[in-house]
Amino acid sequence: MSLKPLLPGSPSVHPGQQTTLGVMGGGQLGRMFVQAAQAMGYFTVVLDPDPASPAGLVSHHHIKTAYDDEAGLAQLAQRCDAITTEFENVPAQALERLAAQRPVAPSAACVAVAQDRAKEKAHFVACAVLSGVSPAPHAVITTDAALAAVPANLLPGILKTSRMGYDGKGQVRVRTREELAAAWDGLDKVPCVLEKMLQLRAECSVIVARGADGQVMSFPVQKNTHHDGILALTEVLDGALDPALAQRAQASTAAIAQHLNYVGVLCVEYFVVETADGTLDLVVNEMAPRPHNSGHYSQNACDISQFEAQVRALAGLPLNPPRQHSPASMVNLLGDLWFAPNAVRTQASKTPVSPPWDAVLALPGTHLHLYGKLGARPGRKMGHLNITGDSVAQVRATTAQVLALLGLPPA
Ligand code: ATP
Ligand code: MG
Repeated sequence: MSLKPLLPGSPSVHPGQQTTLGVMGGGQLGRMFVQAAQAMGYFTVVLDPDPASPAGLVSHHHIKTAYDDEAGLAQLAQRCDAITTEFENVPAQALERLAAQRPVAPSAACVAVAQDRAKEKAHFVACAVLSGVSPAPHAVITTDAALAAVPANLLPGILKTSRMGYDGKGQVRVRTREELAAAWDGLDKVPCVLEKMLQLRAECSVIVARGADGQVMSFPVQKNTHHDGILALTEVLDGALDPALAQRAQASTAAIAQHLNYVGVLCVEYFVVETADGTLDLVVNEMAPRPHNSGHYSQNACDISQFEAQVRALAGLPLNPPRQHSPASMVNLLGDLWFAPNAVRTQASKTPVSPPWDAVLALPGTHLHLYGKLGARPGRKMGHLNITGDSVAQVRATTAQVLALLGLPPA
């Protein structure tokens, strides 16, 4: 990465065009990156095979090819002054191919670590020496011998595929060696990591942005609640988390970014667990080499959003520390809401019906973000709702009202 900033509105590497930022992937994270980049005056290009991709629909240009398509990648490199990614499963070779021509952040090497749980855990173990925050006890399983050698103290545990897992997919909970062997068989014996099942007191995550000059900016720590392995609610307000733990999580995340020489936005997820002596401790779970669902509150509660931070890091612009000006929560809006009975519907319908946004938006401090996805389906991330307010009590009260209006369980 060059340290020379890419200023918006300047001549682009592409003749007749202004400074242009590209993104691999056209999902909602790409869409919000594109929107933040455009707000600052950049031109944008999205590469995603889906003609109706959320980011492709709002970008100046959309290259509709596969992520490893040579002609598509050549066009992306030609049109863009710098390129980022919005999902970790982008082929690392594609990022390398782009990096031969243009600045790419995060780098293929960093994304490769985040793509592989075994590599990711090894990096966390190395960083724990400095940060004091370790991953869960675990074992890497790639052979029958490794399976047989799994220490008994890892059971009960969670078997996770090393690659391609998200939203709790590619995970099996196992209690015994027999269940573990059957589960690994069921996963076609692909490389896996077995993690000890921990009693979680809470979950949290931290977003940092790091520039090519090594400058790191850290967002406040988010407290996350998952339902069925998918993020349901994020809260960023006083009292959500122990301040000392929050500070350790921020320091650990900065160390994890630093020691990868990471450039871009990085999210690291943590568990809060109770130790044998009854005190609370942190365990590092996993990282995402991009903005994260749990950081969406920053769009309305901070003076810089995680997407603007992504733009700034990619363009080599200053990374001022973000200031959270409102306590906030974020409710994830899954496709289920389009089918659920709620305040305006008396029975569950088979055809999707828009949730009562008018009633939700009548509540002060509610901010709706829908991703323009055509077709609601159960489990599909359709959007999110940020809630801000004057006080923690007000945010909590409005969140409870929103959840009730949407027919979601109380926080
Ligand atoms: P995503 O990428 O959507 O965050 P994922 O599929 O990569 O999810 P993880 O974050 O590893 O999976 O796990 C999903 C959830 O399962 C966690 O948020 C946590 O609630 C639970 N979980 C995962 N590992 C453990 C563990 N070792 N002990 C207890 N609970 C766990
Ligand atoms: Mg996770």
